[in-house]
Amino acid sequence: MLKFHLFFIAVIYCTLRIIEANDDGAVSFIREANSTTLEHKYDYIVVGGGTAGCAIAATLSQRYKVLVLERGGSPYGNPLLLRIENSGNTFANPGGLEAPNQAFTSEDGVASIRPNVLGGGSSINGAVYNRAPDEFISDAKLDKNLVESSYAWVEKVVASRPRNFSAFQNSIRGALLEVGVTPDFGFTYKYVVGTKTTGNTFDSHGQRHPSSDLLLAYANHKNIDVLLHATVYKVLLQGGGSRGVLYTDNLGRSHTALLSSERSEVIISAGALGTLVFGNQSLPSGGTVSSPDRRNATLVASGSVNRTISEFCRRSVSTNYHYHGGCPLGEVVDWSFRVMGLNGLRVVDGSTFLSTPGTNPQATVMMLGRYVGVEILKTR
Ligand SMILES: Cc1cc2nc3c(=O)[nH]c(=O)nc-3n(C[C@H](O)[C@H](O)[C@H](O)COP(=O)(O)OP(=O)(O)OC[C@H]3O[C@@H](n4cnc5c(N)ncnc54)[C@H](O)[C@@H]3O)c2cc1C
Repeated sequence: MLKFHLFFIAVIYCTLRIIEANDDGAVSFIREANSTTLEHKYDYIVVGGGTAGCAIAATLSQRYKVLVLERGGSPYGNPLLLRIENSGNTFANPGGLEAPNQAFTSEDGVASIRPNVLGGGSSINGAVYNRAPDEFISDAKLDKNLVESSYAWVEKVVASRPRNFSAFQNSIRGALLEVGVTPDFGFTYKYVVGTKTTGNTFDSHGQRHPSSDLLLAYANHKNIDVLLHATVYKVLLQGGGSRGVLYTDNLGRSHTALLSSERSEVIISAGALGTLVFGNQSLPSGGTVSSPDRRNATLVASGSVNRTISEFCRRSVSTNYHYHGGCPLGEVVDWSFRVMGLNGLRVVDGSTFLSTPGTNPQATVMMLGRYVGVEILKTR
């Protein structure tokens, strides 16, 4: 269930960061799937170049041959995604099937938006950057030191401290303190209860830094291929383990990508909504995406005023976009994010969360990508 424990945030706009891609996003290892014939087999195939996918791919490419397959296009060269002046566009103008901010309506009737672009949610979201609370980390049985260094690795590239505040933002901060939401923590990325200014993925020049910047900053260019408009539709399984994947390009042609050895892995990072699609095919049953069934909720109503309020609630119910769950740790994947009962298949994205981090999740999703990548490098 999407349960948001909303504590306070006074946010916004950030510090300079230099983007390593050209303005038009020309980076040698990022290519269109329809113009590419794969010449190699891969040690790791990452399904979904989203918030977690880019972090784990950049990490694994340090030592291994990695393929990232992303169903959307590139955010680079698109000011609607990367410029702060246009940051309301995702929400105001959700697009069709081809759009990076794809509109959809849940079975409950809740209109929402999902990413369809390299960088995933981090390319289209509200840009608020905030770490998870300690309980979230201990519930997931993660090593605190590695969590800390993984957050730091992410923040060096994508997150900034906001410097300039509007009168509105200053008023909110002042009001929170005045009504006793204390202590005042000033600025911190950490989860704290009180008043603070948190991080942002727009820098002080108004440039967004999605998780794909982690690829630009950290990936070993010789070891990685990132294919765009590559939609994975099947994980190939053989002898109790994964062997590769099938994907289509934007011309509808089908392609095969294969793993190089028995120790190689397919890593599904297609997000809570995308990863579940593979549930029917290869993941153990039992995973369900947390989604509020609030349209059908029974509201206690008596009299016409309450009926009006009930009707208003039904009509205006919406979502905060922080989808998670579906492949929870300890149920569908083990504590190393391996799909239970299968070899060579992991899930690393928001679908593994046991609960909401209680705040904006992108920091923790990117941290997780780095975390699992480092664990794999250490243990393989
Ligand atoms: C509109 C909106 C605003 C948000 N605002 C904030 C915010 O301000 N701060 C914050 O912290 N969080 C915010 N979030 C939430 C945050 O962005 C997500 O929780 C996070 O990005 C999820 O990361 P993920 O890696 O699990 O999935 P994603 O980032 O969604 O990555 C999944 C990727 O897989 C690709 N994919 C899916 N299926 C396939 C397939 N079959 N083949 C190939 N590729 C596939 C998708 O295109 C996508 O790029 C927001 C989300 C949305 C939608």
